[in-house]
Amino acid sequence: MSTVTQLTYEEAVARFEPVIGLETHVELGTNTKMFCGCPTTFGAEPNTQVCPVCLGLPGALPVANRAAIEATIRIGLALNCSIAPWGRFARKNYFYPDMPKNFQISQYDEPLCVDGYLDVELDGELVRIGIERVHLEEDTGKTLHVGGATGRIHGATESLVDYNRAGIPLVEIVTRPVPGTGARAPEIARAYVTELRDVIRTLDVSDVRMEQGSLRCDVNTSLNRTGEAWGTRTETKNVNSLRSVERAVRSEIIRQAGVLESGGKIIQETRHFHEETGDTTSGRSKETATDYRYFPEPDLVPLAPPAEWVAELKAALPELPRVRRARLQADWAFSDLDMQSVVNAGAVELISATVEAGATAASARKWWLGELARRANETETELDALGVTPAAVAELQSLVDSGKINDKLARVVLEGVIAGEGTPAQVVAARGLEVVSDEGALTAAVDEAIAANPDIAAKVRDGKVAAAGALVGAVMKATGGKADAKTVRELIIARLTA
Ligand SMILES: [Zn+2]
Repeated sequence: MSTVTQLTYEEAVARFEPVIGLETHVELGTNTKMFCGCPTTFGAEPNTQVCPVCLGLPGALPVANRAAIEATIRIGLALNCSIAPWGRFARKNYFYPDMPKNFQISQYDEPLCVDGYLDVELDGELVRIGIERVHLEEDTGKTLHVGGATGRIHGATESLVDYNRAGIPLVEIVTRPVPGTGARAPEIARAYVTELRDVIRTLDVSDVRMEQGSLRCDVNTSLNRTGEAWGTRTETKNVNSLRSVERAVRSEIIRQAGVLESGGKIIQETRHFHEETGDTTSGRSKETATDYRYFPEPDLVPLAPPAEWVAELKAALPELPRVRRARLQADWAFSDLDMQSVVNAGAVELISATVEAGATAASARKWWLGELARRANETETELDALGVTPAAVAELQSLVDSGKINDKLARVVLEGVIAGEGTPAQVVAARGLEVVSDEGALTAAVDEAIAANPDIAAKVRDGKVAAAGALVGAVMKATGGKADAKTVRELIIARLTA
């Protein structure tokens, strides 16, 4: 392996064309599991949400959860899929300790939703991602390896299994292969997962939290030279944030290009993404469908959603994110470029909520894409995890608009809000940040500044009004930035030219 050529990303995408594909698992937010009545609360004591059905005890029979089927059909409809009028669940057989039945109930050749698409916007350009299938299955339990340094099985002294998650309804959304994205493949992969997450969030069928695992993503990547057939793909598992989706595709493109450039071959395998290093390592060689010995699940009746029900669900779909964005852009009177930057920053909902809280769209955009984006960037946090609510931003702007604070003070107030000191008004009061608007106090500060800078004052008296800037600066300094600069300037000119 030491002979592998190291290429930069730019070299890799100049020599090879990537084809990507995404498989996304979404844990549905139903109250009960897929085939039994066990609750699905996240974070409960291990093995307290289990029963004979989800533990696979002999004689226990599954019954399909109607709410989960409805949610899956709604996802399929939102992704422009056809809904199968008839289909069966299938048994996927494999042995793994976190799967107590030794098979998983899934859907194989008769998925509930097929043949759709999702339009994804990247820098104003529309990319249509084909959706091959959307099917419903049950989640597995969780294995915890303890006693080792890494939390992985190697070096662990024991392994514990928690079956609370076993049997939670899981929807798998599989794209068709996406060729032709070139150097933008990593960004398009990220944009797709972002849009999919927003669609599912809008449908209110899952909380789609990547960090909690209710939205999980596997990324397929292959490379080929121009004009040649698609290459062998690898599947990168455990990609747990939007940023990681982008990084995983990028690092896999660089790695595969290096192997191919050195005359090597890509092996079809699963790979694991590592958050800390941003690269992938080899997992297991990929099983093929025949290894799972699928067969129709004999304990469940076939699924046959009536056409009228599907039509009702379709008619009741909410406004989807892309349509909503277009409407908001018109409401807010943003240019395409302004709206793109809002979308790229993931700030659509934050700005919408800030406007609902009373701010103008322009001022909401200014804060979220300016000062707040800068802080999020500095601390590598997402905007919505900064600790500043849309209501606080609206309040901050109204304090500026009413002249209580100026822009400079507003940044200090924001610091206080982020530090958990309360609402903007509370921070202003506690830190004594209100603008000095009392003319008496300002006049005294102005007189002091004039007395301390006789040369500059003389210039202003001689008609060189531009020189007043230095005096304004002196007053601002003396008042700790809490004076209104415009008022100070007016006072100085009035004083010296009267
Ligand atoms: Zn159960």
